[in-house]
Amino acid sequence: MFEVRVKTSQKVESRNITDEVLSVVRGKMGRILHVFTPHTTCGIVINEDADPHVMEDVLEALDRLVPRDYSYKHLEGNSDAHVKSILTGCSVTVPFSKGSPVLGTWQGIFLMEFDGPRERKVFITLVE
Ligand code: ZN
Repeated sequence: MFEVRVKTSQKVESRNITDEVLSVVRGKMGRILHVFTPHTTCGIVINEDADPHVMEDVLEALDRLVPRDYSYKHLEGNSDAHVKSILTGCSVTVPFSKGSPVLGTWQGIFLMEFDGPRERKVFITLVE
């Protein structure tokens, strides 16, 4: 297992971490790549990394679904971030072949920050 630290710089953002993941696993052995973040207010997703407007639209859509201002019970003030983390999920699994992940042409791996800025851990595992 490999660990990568990702520093986010905004309250809410999508950080493309594809290059960080590739730099760790490129040329290694394995058939399945697993990328996991052990936090409760961010997420890991795969989606388009060609047009940055796509992830801006996704963040805005999540905000419409789960508004920041609502009478949540959790007193930490970040309940929307917890819900958005559940909606996006905390891991992705990608087929791995010939030393690299089999991502689609337009796909990238993103860390979705919902309660930043923070330093986030990402655990990367290759499974035989
Ligand atoms: Zn909380």
